[in-house]
Amino acid sequence: MPNNNLIYETIILGSGPAGLTAAIYTGRSRCCPLVIHGRQPGGQLTTTTQIDNFPGFPQGIDGSELMENMRLQAERFGTNFTEGEVTRVDLGERPFRICVDGQTYRCLTLIIATGATPKLLGLGNEESLYGRGVSVCATCDGFFYRDKEVVVVGGGDTAMEEAVFLTRFAKKVTVVHRRDALRATPVLADRALSNKQVEFSWDSMVSEIVADQSGVTGVRIKNVTNGEETELRCDGVFIAIGHQPNTSLFDGQLDMDDEGYIQTGNGTETSVRGVMAAGDVQDPQFRQAITAAGSGCMAAIQAERYLDDLPYDPNLSCKKGICKETNREQE
Ligand code: NAP
Repeated sequence: MPNNNLIYETIILGSGPAGLTAAIYTGRSRCCPLVIHGRQPGGQLTTTTQIDNFPGFPQGIDGSELMENMRLQAERFGTNFTEGEVTRVDLGERPFRICVDGQTYRCLTLIIATGATPKLLGLGNEESLYGRGVSVCATCDGFFYRDKEVVVVGGGDTAMEEAVFLTRFAKKVTVVHRRDALRATPVLADRALSNKQVEFSWDSMVSEIVADQSGVTGVRIKNVTNGEETELRCDGVFIAIGHQPNTSLFDGQLDMDDEGYIQTGNGTETSVRGVMAAGDVQDPQFRQAITAAGSGCMAAIQAERYLDDLPYDPNLSCKKGICKETNREQE
């Protein structure tokens, strides 16, 4: 059971592949981690169905099952879990303080694995159609659209990469973009524009995703210059309009880039010593389960090394497996 009288050696925020891999490693090194996660344990992967590209599963694995396995593996090494909404993080004092639903937890090292949320169009049924024709990751789901027709929404680098990637499977890819010019960098834009399998619907927005019981069957497209609406038949809709890193809790406390991704150096170290960031929260580029897991491993090892280098303090230290109760009053 999590206990807020303790000072944890390591607290991990987030329970996606980055957070749970960090938990497996820190737990196995007897850093007695506490994982704090929100209402969707397991993160984004639990919203996908089959995952074919996580090594070690030749037949693929269901996203929820993969995350449940990781959780069990972390529990096997003594990881504690607690659910709640983190309302405040204070990195200005040591131990660091994490406020969750009115409780304050303290820790010597913090691993931030809070992920990034794909931006959505705001259409009523798009979330309920996840895994049934709506996707936010072509690398994850493109394989399921062999010889099918798909729509990609967006005009940035991600949309262009996804459109070109999807031509490996789909027989037709239509990019729907709200302006008449792409935001993508020229090299990626040219690659998509010169690909004969990619068509463009300019000055256009997807106004509705059309579906039946088995999933997506088409989209309604609205031309933003003249208001005309048309319907386009398709089997899948890939929404590629950007991600929002979940970093608002760390505003003003950690260095971030212009998009709000936490900046890391030397692996997963942030601008505050003892605080690591792993997974999508610090990675606008790769955003894969396996890269997130890899960086979770790096964060754990760096947290362990940081703990090993701390001078021994009987009031703070909870060396190797025993989180010491402290005399400090509860906040
Ligand atoms: P992005 O650059 O922010 O582009 C988002 C695109 O979605 C824009 O074209 C935007 O339209 C459109 N959009 C946003 N909200 C929309 C809405 N509600 N409805 C319809 N369209 C909407 O995001 P990104 O493409 O994911 O790229 C994020 C960052 O990662 C960028 O810095 C990018 O360079 C980088 N990245 C790099 C690579 C690479 O180098 N290989 C690959 C992927 C991403 P407008 O153009 O009208 O604003």
